[in-house]
Amino acid sequence: MTEATQANLLDGTAVAAEIRSEVAAGVAALTAAGGRAPGLAAVLVGDDPASRRYVGSKAKACEEVGMLSRVLTLPADLSQADLEATVDDLNADPAIDGILVQLPLPKQLDEDAILHRIDPGKDVDGFHPENVGHLWLDLPGFVPATPAGVMELLRRTGVELEGKHAVVVGRSHIVGKPMAALLLAENATVTVCHSRTRDLAAVCRRADVLVAAVGRAGMIGAEHVAPGAVVVDVGINVLTEREDVERFFAGDEKKLGAFERRGSVLIGDVDFHAAAANAAAITPVPGGVGPLTIAMLLVNTLTAGRRRQGLEIASAGEPGA
Ligand code: NDP
Repeated sequence: MTEATQANLLDGTAVAAEIRSEVAAGVAALTAAGGRAPGLAAVLVGDDPASRRYVGSKAKACEEVGMLSRVLTLPADLSQADLEATVDDLNADPAIDGILVQLPLPKQLDEDAILHRIDPGKDVDGFHPENVGHLWLDLPGFVPATPAGVMELLRRTGVELEGKHAVVVGRSHIVGKPMAALLLAENATVTVCHSRTRDLAAVCRRADVLVAAVGRAGMIGAEHVAPGAVVVDVGINVLTEREDVERFFAGDEKKLGAFERRGSVLIGDVDFHAAAANAAAITPVPGGVGPLTIAMLLVNTLTAGRRRQGLEIASAGEPGA
């Protein structure tokens, strides 16, 4: 590896494992108190392999912590009315506490209409406008799992946010915007950047904490990172061209070896080695933010199960407690 790894690695895999074991304990406590194990239903429309993989990992994670998991696989040519009827059934199902509809949906389906139809009390993805409003109003609700996971990672690895300048690159409903709300709630001073931001590198260099959620492989480089900044890479991109892999991972035997074996490697939105040379701490890809997304989905499902049964028995230190 290059000189890059002077920065501390923020180990998302370890933090996610910690959270998952807390959720398992929470499920056990809920059932011991006479409650029922929370249930998560995942709706998968079509057979996109990446979506199938994501849904499979979420279902498996649910079962590992003792929750009920139900996966509904529906045909790609499903009508809007049929998907809405499925959501209505799940809204009415007493064994189901959390509903997630795996995105993206096939083109004939109106994504917003579906997401807005989910009972806000079962909206463990936190995409319903009611939950979005609650987030910005500092009211209890469900927070999207990826930005919630970033916050847990920062909290549990001791990254201070109060009074710090946090720069978020990306303003999607799923990551960038809720990320900004959460950082603001922790008293960071927050700047949100997007595709029309002028001189992105100069804005990013003013960050104490830089969160990249752009969807562009390795876009954030050394010129975006001030010495001593904390860099959080939300991006998940796949490199399939040798030339790109050699450019981003020169001297990184592990990545180059993985590319030789598999023909592709994962990269975030951050050029890891370039950014790590300046950063004080940085998340790797994979093993950074990714594992936390599922962990926080489990936290949300446990919270939903407790609330719906009137058994709010979170223990101190648990996320959402
Ligand atoms: P979106 O495509 O919805 O949003 C991307 C954002 O980046 C937009 O706000 C866009 O700006 C901005 N952007 C695009 N190009 C530039 C640029 N050149 N300069 C500055 N800003 C730019 O992506 P998501 O938020 O859904 O996802 C972002 C990344 O995070 C992806 O790599 C995705 O795979 C990953 N992801 C990872 C998850 C995980 O579990 N770790 C979960 C969810 C996402 P504008 O609004 O102006 O178009």
